[in-house]
Amino acid sequence: MPRALDSNTRDALAERLKFYRDLGLTDFYRRPVEAASAVTREIDAPSSESVAAGAVSAAPNGPGSGVAAQDSAVQAAQPNLIGEEPTIKTRKVFSAPPQIAGAVPVEERAAALQAIREDLGDCTRCALHKGRNTIVFGVGNPAARLMFVGEGPGADEDAQGEPFVGRAGQLLNNMIAAMGLKREECYIANIVKCRPPGNRTPEPDEANTCSPFLFRQIDVVRPQVLVALGATAATYLLGARQPLAGLRGRIHAFRGTSLIVTYHPAFLLRDPRQKKEAWADLQIAMKELGLKAPAKA
Ligand code: SF4
Repeated sequence: MPRALDSNTRDALAERLKFYRDLGLTDFYRRPVEAASAVTREIDAPSSESVAAGAVSAAPNGPGSGVAAQDSAVQAAQPNLIGEEPTIKTRKVFSAPPQIAGAVPVEERAAALQAIREDLGDCTRCALHKGRNTIVFGVGNPAARLMFVGEGPGADEDAQGEPFVGRAGQLLNNMIAAMGLKREECYIANIVKCRPPGNRTPEPDEANTCSPFLFRQIDVVRPQVLVALGATAATYLLGARQPLAGLRGRIHAFRGTSLIVTYHPAFLLRDPRQKKEAWADLQIAMKELGLKAPAKA
């Protein structure tokens, strides 16, 4: 029988856990592994000059919602990586829960996603259930080749039960259209499925409690390319906290998919100058998918 810890030891351990989490070590139940599963691949990133400036500029501009000020701080210190020589980085990360063995047959994916939704139930596993109206599970093609993962639902998403339906959602739709795809062809989900109060960033315990359901969704959909929208999505998918500058402009091998990191659309609404860089990231995704941007009408 394991020995019960006294309250002082428990508090000390909790403090230490918090300390490591603040350092960016977010997933303690995940087995630390060498970087083999997260080796990044050198890509021919398009130069800023070659980027089709304004390809996503049809979206409305202005202050966004749903992403914490953390993105602004990251962005402020961020160099322009696109156009610079990309480097291959290896680093230690925490592995995600084991991947579902074998691909779910395409015709069974909708039912497999529904089964995950039923497992989730009327979830009260973390504190975020207290303020939500609706669980925002995820939406789209169960056999999508392209999947987007954001941070968490905002007010519009909480009201409608669908991810990315507000102004940031409109911008995401425009980004998808610029890639020559329709929203319905993609699968869209978030790290957490309930709206954090005041649109704050999800706490590590909330993200770690909710993300295993997302990983199961990813395993069922098995997209060829997964795009992490913003620092929070990148952190909890890759299991390591890093500035976006170190993650953008390259391809990360992740659960059998090519993971690409770019800005959250709500951040792009706050700083439209970065749309050009986001478009460069999406061009990496398009190259992976063998897509060409549609000719402008
Ligand atoms: Fe459950 Fe996820 Fe909502 Fe937390 S955020 S209550 S884990 S569905």
